[in-house]
Amino acid sequence: MRVVDIIRRKREGGAHTDEELRFLVRGFARGEVSDYQMSAWLMAVVWRGLTDEETFALTGAMVGSGDVLDLSGLAGPCVDKHSTGGVGDKTTLAVVPILAAGGVQVPKMSGHGLGHTGGTLDKLESLGMHTDFSAPEIIAQVQRVGACLCGQTERLVPADRLMYALRDATDTVQSLPLIAASIMSKKIAGGCPNIILDVKVGRGAFMKSLPEARALARLMIGIGAAHGRRAAAVLSDMDAPLGRTVGNRLEVGEVVRLLRDDADAEPRLRALVRTLAGAGLMLAGRVATPAEGESLAASLTASGAALEKLRAIVAAQGGGADALDLAVGPPAAPASYDVQALGDGFVTHLDAEAVGLAAMRLGAGRAAKGDAIDPDAGVVLRRSVGDRVAVGDILATLYASTEAAAREVAPSVVDAYAFAPTPAAAAPVVLEIIGFDP
Ligand code: URA
Repeated sequence: MRVVDIIRRKREGGAHTDEELRFLVRGFARGEVSDYQMSAWLMAVVWRGLTDEETFALTGAMVGSGDVLDLSGLAGPCVDKHSTGGVGDKTTLAVVPILAAGGVQVPKMSGHGLGHTGGTLDKLESLGMHTDFSAPEIIAQVQRVGACLCGQTERLVPADRLMYALRDATDTVQSLPLIAASIMSKKIAGGCPNIILDVKVGRGAFMKSLPEARALARLMIGIGAAHGRRAAAVLSDMDAPLGRTVGNRLEVGEVVRLLRDDADAEPRLRALVRTLAGAGLMLAGRVATPAEGESLAASLTASGAALEKLRAIVAAQGGGADALDLAVGPPAAPASYDVQALGDGFVTHLDAEAVGLAAMRLGAGRAAKGDAIDPDAGVVLRRSVGDRVAVGDILATLYASTEAAAREVAPSVVDAYAFAPTPAAAAPVVLEIIGFDP
């Protein structure tokens, strides 16, 4: 078998055998297939696509490039979660402790943020938690505490790490089958039989339209099924940021407030957390319907059990005893700047991508992999879609290391808001749930 023939087949629109895909991916992971050949194949896939069967086989070949976490030591139900990434998306920090408080085990591997989107690992590291775990350490912590929030182990789908670096450098990220195989290979290697997917839709997301997001969700659920995993997907709006905060420690504070008393939580964040947790509880067999799952999630929050579980997870991973209390206190950044409205009207739109980029420029995110971040930097949104605003009202407060840095970013936050003389209803955050049909 020759790599050049595999590239030609895809360039001409043909379909691969499972063996060809295994040969290509395994060879690439071992350094036997060059970057330039893999890049050429990836570009051919962007143009020609992959059939579902090819995508299932590609995912399997990627999983086979590393280890699959052996969760046979975990007794009882187990659920994993993935978000396709957004702005202000702190749901993992709430959903995982709710699930664990409900008796569902969650070995959850996450990533760092990049560009306008945040990452769970950055939020955990802002609390001083360690996130670098070996497979046996993950299992031991889940047995002890019910959940582990950590980075990916070294041996988890090495082919994806290498392929993603090439995709990033050759503008071949935007391909439905490549995205689906990349995400699901990591979830399958994570070992959980049940996977809840949060597929974001809108300006601040990978998937800009509902049909695209639906197609990605269906493909990922199909990949899961082909590999013996049960997956369900929540399609959620990411036109506007999720919740009232964007920035690492600020977002942790918002989660702690939600878990203390979700009556005051931003309604879209509360709704999505309950939906995701409810779906996870249902996948784990704890409840019979998503609605029952949502009400169990609400009661696990109201009882304080979920917050207690989050404290246990933070403590188990070396976070300071008062890390959560500090995060919920006054913002710790040395400088802040209030962004004011320049006119009267109703907020009709708040651009998630623009807010995410503003937060990144304030220091909360990274423009390039490996950039340092400021755990205290970020944005608190004081006004959102549907709110009435008068000239001079504070739209948002920006937190940074210096006031000059915050002032510089302020105009882009003003521009993220759109106003009209009449109100517009905020879009529902949960757009669709896929995967619970009989
Ligand atoms: N997230 C991933 O893990 N992989 C992709 O290809 C895109 C988003």
